[in-house]
Amino acid sequence: MIIVTRIGVTDEEVDQIRERVEGAGLRTHISRGETHTIIGCIGEEERLQRVPLLTLPGVESVHPVMKPFKLASREFSAGPSRVAVGDTEVGGDEITVIAGPCSVEGDEMLRATARAVAAAGARGLRGGAFKPRTSPYAFNGMGSRGLEILARARAESGLPIVTEVMDTRHVEEVAGHADVLQIGARNMQNFALLTEVGRLHRPVLLKRGMSSTIRDLLLAAEYVMKQGNMNVILCERGIRTFETATRNTFDLAAIPVLKRETHLPVVADPSHAGGRRDLVAPLSFAAIAAGADGLIVEVHPAPDEALSDGDQSLDFAEFSDFMERLRPFATAVGRRLAESVEEDPAVEEPRQMVMTSATESP
Ligand code: PEP
Ligand code: MN
Repeated sequence: MIIVTRIGVTDEEVDQIRERVEGAGLRTHISRGETHTIIGCIGEEERLQRVPLLTLPGVESVHPVMKPFKLASREFSAGPSRVAVGDTEVGGDEITVIAGPCSVEGDEMLRATARAVAAAGARGLRGGAFKPRTSPYAFNGMGSRGLEILARARAESGLPIVTEVMDTRHVEEVAGHADVLQIGARNMQNFALLTEVGRLHRPVLLKRGMSSTIRDLLLAAEYVMKQGNMNVILCERGIRTFETATRNTFDLAAIPVLKRETHLPVVADPSHAGGRRDLVAPLSFAAIAAGADGLIVEVHPAPDEALSDGDQSLDFAEFSDFMERLRPFATAVGRRLAESVEEDPAVEEPRQMVMTSATESP
């Protein structure tokens, strides 16, 4: 910590500042300039966090030297961390694409989506069972039934499941079915929830809050890591700005900034960032070029009939085309994308989905 004093600070004021710092167990080094005096504080900086220094007489500004996050910081780990998810590692050489519907709406639609996205090269299946919706009257997910459907889709497709946990009371249940626990934008600073998922070792996909700074995001990750869970994947999903042309403003620069500040893998969510399906591809290409380790993309068998986020969801053909267009971007940054494979016609079911099952549940 470096304390800069006001012009004309008195010796008594400098003594008082020094005493306050030394009282917290740090040493001080005073450097007197022509106009300002600089007080360098040597020792454990966090001890000063609870000491109000800015309002002491004679203080002009206070500058922390250390990053407020430790476990998440670059200094903590020699190289970039990799988080194992299913057969892949987020943060490794491969660009990990996780895809699936915004919400689990039924068994058939999810299993068909799992098959389609796996065939196109996705390495994880997303789908919300517990949904955070702005309106309490909107479809808010199938809850426990949705988790069971996700588990069946995993068993059939082999894809690891990424699903949101919104409430500390549901952590155990969601962790019983999910391979990755998603903490949504609206819960990024739900510190009780962060602490609870930190007690497990299950990977956490931590989405940036819509009004949160990069520092806030890293401190939220620190909450999880402080409990012993180092398997955190950060997700840039757009922030709120004055712009109304897009659902959120995709903060592209957050990706290289995060990669500079932290060893944790970073993925981007082009679906929630742009809010429109035509923006998914360009935002994804930009994210990969900017250094993202992966993407989480909304895909639905019939986006126009989706119970949530249909406008930003790709259908199967669009997703498959998107993946092929993404490939050269991965290659350009020296990474690769899982190969697409032929869907096994033996397990393929009719494309005509029954879309009513979700509405039967609470
Ligand atoms: C979601 O992934 O469907 C979701 C609700 O995302 P976010 O928390 O980023 O809004
Ligand atoms: Mn969504």
